[in-house]
Formats: sequence, structure tokens, C-alpha cells
Amino acid sequence: MRTKSTELSPHSKKVMELLKQSSKPLTAYEILDKLHKFGIKAPPTVYRALDSLIERGIVHRIESLNAFVVCHDDHHGEHHDHNARFAVCRSCGTAEEIHDHRLTAFISELGKKLKFHIEREMLELSGLCHACDHKAQRKKA
Ligand SMILES: [Zn+2]
Ligand SMILES: [Zn+2]
Repeated sequence: MRTKSTELSPHSKKVMELLKQSSKPLTAYEILDKLHKFGIKAPPTVYRALDSLIERGIVHRIESLNAFVVCHDDHHGEHHDHNARFAVCRSCGTAEEIHDHRLTAFISELGKKLKFHIEREMLELSGLCHACDHKAQRKKA
């Protein structure tokens, strides 16, 4: 994970650590709950930390879950400002970040075609991840 030259606040670092350790997205409430033992108890502190991480493009918000996840786009040069798209498993709750430049191109083309100025894009697929799908298939058999 690349870090920006401007320092993260200690709270942001802590939130980031928690999100990194988690195998699935965490809600603000879950983050707050885990931070309790470190003496961080004020929700605004956590929200501020999350905002700053999101602004830096290090953390994404998954709207359909109202949860947060660390960006896995490590090798990407242009880190800032990329649209986060996710495939969210409804069974185990994992969220896979989708990186496909064709989508970026397609959506911007679509905006032009519709004469619609796109300000925000949220693309979240809901379904079953490979492991959960496999399990579901086995149960059926
Ligand atoms: Zn990302
Ligand atoms: Zn799953």
C-alpha cells in the first residue's frame, strides 16, 4: 500500500489497520466498536478518519452495505479518483473491487450519449462469490 507524503492522522491509521485486517467491509458502527478498546469512542472521530481516507482514495464506501473497505488497487499509478466498483457477496459479505477500464470508458461514453453530466457513479453487483456459490451448488446436489 502506497502512502501519501501528507501524514495520516493516528486515528485514520488505526481505522485503516482495522479495515486491512478485516476480510470483509466494515460498517462505521463495527469500526467504532473495535476502536473502543483503543480509547476512541466518539463517532465523529471515526467519521472524520473515514472521510479523510476516502478522500485520499485509500478507502472506499460501499453504498449498498453502508460499509467501508480498503482499496486493493495497489499497483495502480493513478490512485486518486478512480471509481470504485464492487461485486458484493450476499452470503459471506466479502466485496471484490472490480477494475475494468472498459467500464470507465463505457460509462463516460454513456454520459455523453445521454447528455447527462455524471457526478457520481455507484456500481455494485450483488450475488454469490465463487466459494459461496460452490457451497450453494453442493447443497442442492
Ligand atoms: Zn480502489
Ligand atoms: Zn461469499
